[in-house]
Amino acid sequence: MRGAVLAPARICRTSRLMPIPARIEDDLPFLTELRRDLHAHPELGFEEERTSGIVARLLEGAGIKVHRGLGGTGIVGTLQVGDGTRTIGLRADMDALAMPEMAERPHKSKYAGRMHACGHDGHTTMLLGAARYLAATRDFSGTVHFIFQPAEEGRGGARRMVGDGLFELFPCDAVYGLHNMPGLAIDEIAVVEGPQLASSDSWRVTFRGTGTHGAKPHLGKDPITAAGTFLTSLQTIVGRIVDPLQPAVVSACSLQAGSPKALNVIPDTVEIGGTARAYSPDVRDQLEEEIGRLAKGTAAMFGIALNYQFERRIPPVINDSNATARALGAASAVFGEKVRTKFPPSTAGDDFAFFGQNAPGCYVWLGNGPAADGALHHNTAYDFNDDAIGYGAAYWAMLVERELKAAL
Ligand SMILES: [Zn+2]
Ligand SMILES: [Zn+2]
Repeated sequence: MRGAVLAPARICRTSRLMPIPARIEDDLPFLTELRRDLHAHPELGFEEERTSGIVARLLEGAGIKVHRGLGGTGIVGTLQVGDGTRTIGLRADMDALAMPEMAERPHKSKYAGRMHACGHDGHTTMLLGAARYLAATRDFSGTVHFIFQPAEEGRGGARRMVGDGLFELFPCDAVYGLHNMPGLAIDEIAVVEGPQLASSDSWRVTFRGTGTHGAKPHLGKDPITAAGTFLTSLQTIVGRIVDPLQPAVVSACSLQAGSPKALNVIPDTVEIGGTARAYSPDVRDQLEEEIGRLAKGTAAMFGIALNYQFERRIPPVINDSNATARALGAASAVFGEKVRTKFPPSTAGDDFAFFGQNAPGCYVWLGNGPAADGALHHNTAYDFNDDAIGYGAAYWAMLVERELKAAL
């Protein structure tokens, strides 16, 4: 943060109606400066050296035990207080996106082609704010792991942390996630049981026939005609097979065959690829099976060979009912009646799902105010709203203090 030129924090204390602890309020100028510094120095997945260095130093400065380098650049801070045996994990993501920041602002990205366009700078800051508060007040009994993950944006940071032994080294009875949401007011939060984000999987179908002269199709096996049949049937999976009350998406997004320079050649192969999205493990299984079944049937019909691959990338994020009830209690204590218990799930994915597979979890949507200039997540003008920092940090702190209640 040294040398950073920062505009005054957008803090309006008088407008705050909700109980943000005074100690967090007092920390807001520091946290706002930190957030803007992180915004100005975005780092891509698994390259968060500077960011994770700052995270580790601040945690250690607060007296929190730090484990570095889990899942590459991941950090876990552990704060144990009293003799309570319950342990919970709180997750923040640290990475930025490979895209340019186009809006002018004092804390604009200093790096071409890198930008905090999803607000992970805010997520990191809010969890640090809660950690500093909890380490100072110590008004709970149990253990909290502050999990700062790398590479949420499609590079597999959560999976790698889990693979590197996150839950063996730091077992958790419950794990919690949070994402900012433009469109919800900053004093609003959505805490909803059940599906929050879709699974995000990739599939590939290769039809292998026998290439031949375009004028003599009877001497070969044409994979292009087979591909056409497959593609026109593909939407029958969602339309005719998946339960109409269960959301699902199957999209073909890539099609490669032959050459536009050889219009008299039937090629040997056609490669098709796409994405599949679902909100339940059952529908996810169904999509994998049905895309393959359709491809196999089509290949059999045309007498050609098939290669089918379904790559499970990210599971759906599904909020556990007990964890959601506890998150709701904490959210209500901070946001009062501004808590929403109904909010539409997102068709995007979040690899927090890998944490949720290892411990009952709850992922909430924290208000980030109106989308300034219409800039939503992953927009070149997006900026995390600093007015949300106090609310997010207060939610995390309240969740810990309520779930790990100090003995009377
Ligand atoms: Zn994102
Ligand atoms: Zn994000």
